[in-house]
Order: sequence, then C-alpha cells, then structure tokens
Amino acid sequence: MTIMEYVSTRGAAPVLDFEGVTLAGLANDGGLYLPREWPRMSEAEIRDLRGLSYAEVAIRIMRPFVAGSLSDDELSGLCHAVYGDFGHSAVAPLVQLDETHWLLELFHGPTLAFKDVALQMLGHLFETFLERRGERLTIVGATSGDTGSAAINAVAGRDRTEIFMLHPAGRVSEVQRRQMTTVRAPNVHNIAIDGSFDDAQRHVKAMFSDTSVNGPLNLGAVNSINWARLMAQVVYYFTSALQLGAPDRKVAYSVPTGNFGDVFAGYVAAQMGLPIERLIVATNVNDILHRALSDGDYSAGDTTATITPSMDIQVSSNFERLLFDCGGRDGAAMAAQMAEFDANRAMQLTNAQREGAAALFTSARADQDETARALQWVYRNTAQVIDPHTGVGLHASLNATEDQVAPGTPIVTLATAHPAKFRDAVERAVGVRPPLPPRVGDLFGREEHFTELAGDYETSRDFVLENASAAKG
Ligand SMILES: *Cc1c(COP(=O)(O)O)cnc(C)c1O
Repeated sequence: MTIMEYVSTRGAAPVLDFEGVTLAGLANDGGLYLPREWPRMSEAEIRDLRGLSYAEVAIRIMRPFVAGSLSDDELSGLCHAVYGDFGHSAVAPLVQLDETHWLLELFHGPTLAFKDVALQMLGHLFETFLERRGERLTIVGATSGDTGSAAINAVAGRDRTEIFMLHPAGRVSEVQRRQMTTVRAPNVHNIAIDGSFDDAQRHVKAMFSDTSVNGPLNLGAVNSINWARLMAQVVYYFTSALQLGAPDRKVAYSVPTGNFGDVFAGYVAAQMGLPIERLIVATNVNDILHRALSDGDYSAGDTTATITPSMDIQVSSNFERLLFDCGGRDGAAMAAQMAEFDANRAMQLTNAQREGAAALFTSARADQDETARALQWVYRNTAQVIDPHTGVGLHASLNATEDQVAPGTPIVTLATAHPAKFRDAVERAVGVRPPLPPRVGDLFGREEHFTELAGDYETSRDFVLENASAAKG
C-alpha cells in the first residue's frame, strides 16, 4: 500500500505522512491537513464490513489513512486496545426512536461525550509515535468543555505528553469542569480564561504560529484541527449505516455541530463511498454555519451562552476543510479567503463552495425552547432522557423537510453526550435529573485544581512557557 500523504488547506506547509500530521496538529501555514486524495471503498468492500466488531471496522476504515505510519499489526493492536474497553461493548450503539428516527449513542467512553471515541485513540497514537521518535509533546488545547475532559483523561499520567487546557471561565457545566479539574497528574494543567471559547481557540492557534512557544516546545493539538480525531470519527458513520442497510440503502444524519469536526467526519465517510443521503448540520443560536450553508454568509457574531455549551462557537475551524475540498483544493485561494475572514470576521462562500456543500449538507438551527421540546418529545415517546446537544440534533431531524431528507430514509441523530453531563438543563426541560453513571466515580468529592487567567493572549502564552516542564527533544 502506498503512503498516505497529507496536504495543508493553505498550500504552503510541508506535505506530511500520518505520523507527521498527528504530531503537528495545525499546519505551519495556519491551515489544516487533509489527505491528498480520499481513499475509496467499493460496495463489495463496504458489504464485507457487515457483522464485524467496532474495532474490526475501525481497522478497515483507518488502514488507508495510516498507510506508511502504522503497520497492520500496530493498527490492529491500537484499535483493540482502545475500543475493546469501552463502557458499552458496541462502542456506539444505535437506538430506535420511531419508524424513521434513530439515536447513535456516542457517550459510552470515560468522560461521557463523543470526544472520547477519538481522543482515546489519539492518546495511544501520541504515545506510539513519540516513543518511536524519542520525543515529548506539549499539548495546548481549547475546550468548550468536552474536548478538555476527554483529552485530559486520554493523556493523564503518561510520560511523553504534557497538557495545557484552556476553558472559558464559568461557561462550562459543573460536571464538565470537574471532569477536567479533579484529575490529579503532574502532566495536566487546567486554565480558566476570562473570555469565550473562541478566545481560547484563538490563543491556541496563535501559540502554534508563535516561535517563542512553538520553538522551545514541541506543540501538539488535541482539538479537531488534529486530523487523527476526524479519522477516528469516520468509523461510527460506517458501523451505524451498515446496521441500517448500507450499502444498499441510504441513511441521513443529523449532527449537533460546533467546530464542524464530527459532521466533517460524515463527509469523509461519504467521500470514501458510504451512501449518505444527507448530513444535517444542527446548530444552536450560535448559527454561523446555518447561515453559511443556507445563504453563503459566513460572518461571525458574538457568542451567546446556551444550554448546549459545547456548541457555543462562532468560528468553526473544520469548515475550512470543507471549503478547501469543495472549492477545488486551491491552497493559495483558501489562504486569501481566510485572511479576508480574519480581517473582517466575515466572508462570502464561492459558488463552487456553495454548490459543493449543498450536494450533501443541509442545516437547521434550534433555540432553547425548541431544544427543550425535542427532549420532551423523546421522554414522552420513549421514556429516554437525552442531553441538550443531542436535542438540537433531534430537533433538526424531526423537522427535516422532504427536500432535505426523502421520506422513508432513516435519519440518525448523533447523541453526542450523556444527559448527566448537562443534568441541570435536562432537569429543567423534562423534570428528571439523570444520575451520573458509576464509571465517572467520585467526581463531586474530589478537589479541583485550576488557574484563572486574564483573557489576553500574552497571559496564556506566558503561563504555558513558565509552567511547561518539557524542553524540546
Ligand atoms: C464537541 C461537541 C459537539 C460539537 O462537535 P464538533 O465536532 O465540534 O462539531 C456537540 N455536542 C457535544 C456534546 C460536544 O461535546
């Protein structure tokens, strides 16, 4: 098998292999890495996946992406280590709601959100590659809550990685915060910044292009700018579609969306040959993606805090990957378009980008009342309690029009978090307080550790430089 090569969306960074992009995170021209070409699976190859375990499907889906960086034995060892040990033996079980609606439960990992599915894998990949190179990695990440807890869980106590995680102070749920701040390990640093998630994400991106940081330190990324995360998320589109009849039947997905990572993984699955009829990008009132996909206007406003904090995002990093792929893969044009966006906080999509996106994507937006009504609908009809992020996705599924999804097509809503992670909002909507599952342990009895910092970039940067124990090499 040939080596898979990865190129930057902005065309000016070195071409890397899978090991290189996993450790690099963001490309050094400010772009995001994508495979040079999408690997294609034939209908027969997809049919052959039927009946395989989650770990076995993961091996087949990931194999072309890691070619040249992991042997078949290494890949198989990783997939079995990560997915053999999840809270649910199916890893991502599919639950039927009514004749056409399904939930894909992605919250059976250690920190109760779908982020675990990919970050548990990323933690193992880091160790494998760093061991091989004899290097250490300083991870800097921004979180609206779930990435932080999943990433910290994936690397706490490991030898070759140290993690600095920035979250917006007061804007994550208590369970989310405690899942980060009660982890006691010498390689974990929690930072609460006085600002929004977008501020935190901007600081992290700035550190990557700041040679005073990404020179003495070997920086790594756990946000979904890291390609390896998206790759791991492609797998559950396959396992769920297979259960619903793929490749002989098309399936639609509704994806609660923030940084556009999870839904972009669905796009990758479609490029690989999985017959996906439609991907519904479901947003809360922070609806820049809904506006961009419905009328081409990609303009950021101020972030509004909602009951779905993991989606309180204005600037969705991974959208650039879609615009690049649909817009003819022109790195120089993409760099110019993003420079315009950085200057004006607004840009127009090109016709090619709009048409390319419209072939597969549609979008919908849910406000808090609509989200609460979706939670109530499930509770009334199936006695299940879902989390508000999942509720945003379900609102979009239940209200999909015939030109968004053909009648009779199964619609899968991605259930991105366990309801106990957002139990105050859940209780307000349906009057039931979901208990924390035993696997999170004594979360409310443990001491919290975090540092509060002002919201400017320099303060975050200096904190990382002063507290990082790892010098490069
Ligand atoms: C991260 C997250 C999302 C948004 O996913 P993206 O990949 O950023 O679009 C939705 N729901 C929950 C619970 C999350 O943690």
